[in-house]
Amino acid sequence: MAWDFETEPEFQKKLDWADAFVGDEVEPLDRVWPGLAFTPLDETRRRVVDPLKHEVRGQEMWATHLGPELGGQGYGQLKLALLNEILGRSSWAPIVFGCQAPDTGNAEIIAHYGTPEQKERYLRPLLDGELFSCYSMTEPHAGADPTMFTTRAEKDGDEWVIDGWKFFSSNAKTASFLIVMAVTNPDVQAYQGMSMFLVPSSTPGIDIVRNLGLARESGDEGSHALIHYDHVRVPADALLGGEGQAFAIAQTRLGGGRIHHAMRTIGLAKKALDMMCERALSRETQGSLLADKQFVQGYIADSYAQLVQFRLFVLYTAWSIDKYNDYRKVRKDIATAKVVMPTVLHDIAWRAMQVHGALGVSNEMPFLDMILGAGVMGLADGPTEVHKVTVARQVLRDYKPSDDVWPTQHLPKLRDAARAKLADYLEHDVGNL
Ligand SMILES: Cc1cc2nc3c(=O)[nH]c(=O)nc-3n(C[C@H](O)[C@H](O)[C@H](O)COP(=O)(O)OP(=O)(O)OC[C@H]3O[C@@H](n4cnc5c(N)ncnc54)[C@H](O)[C@@H]3O)c2cc1C
Repeated sequence: MAWDFETEPEFQKKLDWADAFVGDEVEPLDRVWPGLAFTPLDETRRRVVDPLKHEVRGQEMWATHLGPELGGQGYGQLKLALLNEILGRSSWAPIVFGCQAPDTGNAEIIAHYGTPEQKERYLRPLLDGELFSCYSMTEPHAGADPTMFTTRAEKDGDEWVIDGWKFFSSNAKTASFLIVMAVTNPDVQAYQGMSMFLVPSSTPGIDIVRNLGLARESGDEGSHALIHYDHVRVPADALLGGEGQAFAIAQTRLGGGRIHHAMRTIGLAKKALDMMCERALSRETQGSLLADKQFVQGYIADSYAQLVQFRLFVLYTAWSIDKYNDYRKVRKDIATAKVVMPTVLHDIAWRAMQVHGALGVSNEMPFLDMILGAGVMGLADGPTEVHKVTVARQVLRDYKPSDDVWPTQHLPKLRDAARAKLADYLEHDVGNL
């Protein structure tokens, strides 16, 4: 009997340490330096953050998404899920633990497809937490359908010249390099005609036209770049993987990225539920605690049910990735987690906000940010609708059409078949009447 929902005591000790460490040492960074997690450390922040990273390494919790050969712990996705649900409470925590998106996904594809020189140049410092990276794929006129991308990379002697526009390239403004997806052969299908390039941010021709912010972030807070690649010239060895391999690389990257977001979302949704419960037990109105009102009890029960289902499903998916060691084999479940994630976070954060009354919608509580986060989760790494299509297609693969005008489970048909099968006995029964 192999099903088991327990964490090894040794790893549980590490999780308990991480839980206390994030609460005591890391969450305060969110309070004093909000929005700066992806900004290179200045002198002051470095004095605080470097010792925290050092402590994480000492606890063997640094870069847990990667194997030991790449400086990670090789814990696998299930243990990463248990850790990420703690880190998801804080925007600084993934940085302090060396497993922040989008760098994790970018590191994974360089580890997977990079040459030894590319690994030395980009992967090593990325893993050491010394620089940030950017994944530049979406374009202003096309996001959900990558076959519509037009950014072009053309061979010119030993070099490639990249021309085109990219949109919502997160952290481009602080990244040391960008991973750019471009059409290298327009004469074949997009799935074979696009390639990925590793482009240092200092390359002439990279023009960050503006940085978009989310919701009410002010202009200078925005970190999602509209970029014009204007004759950006890179050497032949800037190509990541083979020519025409962009889609295969993107799938490797986005599979991991999506499930890691889901892991962290568990932590954020749990935080909202914790706040809802505390408020329900603290606030009295019309003669009783909110916790005694049936509507509020309904909010709590529904939220708990959604969270537990989501958490178990994400843990199961992480376990499956470890088992098959291949994101493609777990594609259906990763897409399902991606589909469910925004609704779970949205619903729980919304109820928690409601239970807090006016305070809940104020800028003194984090609920609206969480709800915005739910919206982001429904778009980043592909919109929910597209992932639903993936789920449905994958589910349908396990079925075949009925070979008859009537469905297989049509009751008269089943009854006739059962009667034919048991005819001897039925005749006997009748004979006894
Ligand atoms: C916070 C954030 C960070 C991001 N970071 C990055 C990044 O670092 N790098 C990067 O390259 N991109 C990034 N993106 C972009 C993201 O990948 C795209 O937003 C996403 O792929 C959708 O593309 P789009 O915005 O162009 O929407 P569109 O493609 O225009 O789609 C708009 C809407 O149409 C509907 N729709 C689309 N396709 C279908 C379909 N097949 N069936 C039914 N309905 C459909 C959906 O409702 C969808 O939301 C980021 C996005 C966000 C919000």
